[in-house]
Amino acid sequence: MTDQELRERARAVIPGGMYGHQAAPGAGYPQFMRAGRGARVWDVDGNEYVDLMCSYGPVVLGHRHPAVEAAVAEQARLGDCQNGPGPVVVDLAELLVRTVRHADWAMFAKNGTDATTMCCTIARAQTGRNKILVARGAYHGSAPWCTPRPAGVTPEDRANLGYYTFNDLATAQEAAALAGHDLAAILVSPFKHDAGFDQELVDPAFARGLRALCDAAGAALILDDVRCGFRLHLGSSWEPVGIDPDLSAWSKAIANGHPLAAVLGNDAFRDGAQRVFVTGSFWFSAVPMAAAVATIGALRDEQAIPAMHRTGIQLRDGILAQARSWDLAVTYTGPPAMPYLTFAGDQDHELAAVFTAQALRGGAYLHPRHNWFVSAAMTGDDLALLLTATDQAFAAVRKHRSD
Ligand code: PMP
Repeated sequence: MTDQELRERARAVIPGGMYGHQAAPGAGYPQFMRAGRGARVWDVDGNEYVDLMCSYGPVVLGHRHPAVEAAVAEQARLGDCQNGPGPVVVDLAELLVRTVRHADWAMFAKNGTDATTMCCTIARAQTGRNKILVARGAYHGSAPWCTPRPAGVTPEDRANLGYYTFNDLATAQEAAALAGHDLAAILVSPFKHDAGFDQELVDPAFARGLRALCDAAGAALILDDVRCGFRLHLGSSWEPVGIDPDLSAWSKAIANGHPLAAVLGNDAFRDGAQRVFVTGSFWFSAVPMAAAVATIGALRDEQAIPAMHRTGIQLRDGILAQARSWDLAVTYTGPPAMPYLTFAGDQDHELAAVFTAQALRGGAYLHPRHNWFVSAAMTGDDLALLLTATDQAFAAVRKHRSD
């Protein structure tokens, strides 16, 4: 069955043919994927790509990592979705509490949206207050309180949100003052990774300022580590900044592609966490938890995070050298392992679309509007192929500009 045939069938039975972040990101992209191994993926038409999207973040050690898949097979032989969680839930909670500095306890769910939503619910239960501050334009999931599209959302869904600008402490102070005694939490991502925009690393003074604001107000500092968690640091992504949140939301990379999310919290929020009713039919499945234990072990044993950082630097240096050689003005932002490239003056992402479409033809799967993800499985050969593809992609952008 070809991609085209599958798209036709999908259009009849799936609204819009596909939806959410997995709707193909542009012309020339395959919609349906068949397989993955290491840093390579194959679409249903048999095309092979070096994967720089990593399933939008979950795949951190590479597709079908042997130790993770062995743990998955072992747990699947015993059971997955049962009347109670497997013993692995305790192993995983202990491992996360040992691994993440601010965490005294762990709870589990399926998706990042579950985790960010739970953090807000727990913060409200603990503080008895309503208002949550979020950075304008930040993505925290697809529930009505946080989805970026207005369709189907009521004003009431957003009534208890206040807004600040990332890295601008004065705006957070103003929003906190406006919330007054009703401030339950400030929700923040480890760095600014809003889709389609240049990324911005956090200013440590801003992180410290948010911590101080929460402490002064008796509110929760919530770190949304869903996208960054265990890609930048084997702990919370703000440990290197020296700031600990009260609650943190995790998903994506924690189980190397297996469906799992986690909320981690400190003892000050344990009571609230105990009182909320949060659950889901699949939240306690043992297989993804076994995958998470194996993933965290492999991240440590294989020194995967420093490896991704090093590969990310090679990728950045290679791409920036190519941009210079094609005389194209670009901005390359974010941590080396989670980079994003924009072209000067390319507001509507037209050049980004030309660039990524040509890279795709050259065998590199990038995204025109979303940050990229380096996996620990990327070899020197993968990187060389990737850079050959991006060089051709810069050539296509040059040609497009002069046409
Ligand atoms: N927060 C952040 C920072 C994210 O990147 C995402 C997913 N892109 C989410 C929350 C929501 O996660 P999920 O799609 O698993 O619900």
